Amino acid sequence: MKRIGVLTSGGDSPGMNPAIRSVVRKAIYHNLEVYGVFGGYAGLISGNIKKLELGSVGDIIHRGGTMLQSARCPEFKTPEGQQKGIDQLKAHGIEGLVVIGGDGSYRGAKALTEQGFPCVGVPGTIDNDIPGTEITIGFDTALNTVIDALDKIRDTATSHERTFVIEVMGRNAGDIALWSGLAGGAETILIPEVDYNMEDIADRLQKGHERGKKHSIIVVAEGVCSGVDFAKQLSEATNFDTRVSVLGHMQRGGSPTAADRVLASRLGARAVELLIDGKGGRAVGLEKNSLVDYDIIEALDRKHKLDLDLYTLSQELSI
Ligand code: ADP
Repeated sequence: MKRIGVLTSGGDSPGMNPAIRSVVRKAIYHNLEVYGVFGGYAGLISGNIKKLELGSVGDIIHRGGTMLQSARCPEFKTPEGQQKGIDQLKAHGIEGLVVIGGDGSYRGAKALTEQGFPCVGVPGTIDNDIPGTEITIGFDTALNTVIDALDKIRDTATSHERTFVIEVMGRNAGDIALWSGLAGGAETILIPEVDYNMEDIADRLQKGHERGKKHSIIVVAEGVCSGVDFAKQLSEATNFDTRVSVLGHMQRGGSPTAADRVLASRLGARAVELLIDGKGGRAVGLEKNSLVDYDIIEALDRKHKLDLDLYTLSQELSI
């Protein structure tokens, strides 16, 4: 392999930039040429492809977002769109592609691989919902953003003896809600993987209040329901003074944490190694602090598993 490409796709996550930097520098270190595909699969179809040098990825290791830009591209879900992408890659002499993104982006990489073009998937999403890795690039930064907000909200909640409902991201996976709720000492955590019972929640709030708790923090993953809807249900079931805070897209931005930069550097470099070894069609990840890689098609068939022990622990610690 002499020339590879790299693209970021789908929802951006903090740490995509250090992942791009790692791909580019590792490839050049091994005497490969690297081309950046700008604007995800849309840029691939339109041929928005430029050569990257060592300096092209200078001064990005600490920046959120992605210097390659990202996009959603429905056309790429069609075989015709994918063929246009392959034609562009071939026209630029690119022989392998690193795709940094989430579940949808992996499906695109899988489609290219099935059509004979080797791709390696690198898990970049704040949601931590990619199979084949215990942790995704951007999750740690998003968690730190959420607990920073939780700590601040806790101050005002305590001063006014209020209950706060905080809605965080996570449509299908409750990882952000669970980990941030545990790290931020939330009294109640609602995640899509576990049904909730309003009577139990009201009972916990009441008992906490009787013990002299000055505030209550409830973290709700957006996949369960909106924070506003949940607060309405709660005020019908109790008479606590409740406020809602929806954290929204701030969770996707910000300078990547050290943990995300290290993870991105390791995974990006491994993706390049696999392409050099002629191993396309893989998805890289981290398990038990070791780098792993799986067949990208098999990886997608696996299910991401939330750590339910953490849920139990969070309930035990928030009595
Ligand atoms: P994420 O990668 O963050 O999950 P999306 O689900 O929006 O984000 O997917 C990003 C892009 O990946 C889509 O806009 C589309 O171009 C491509 N994609 C998604 N699903 C498929 C699929 N089944 N086949 C081919 N490409 C896909």
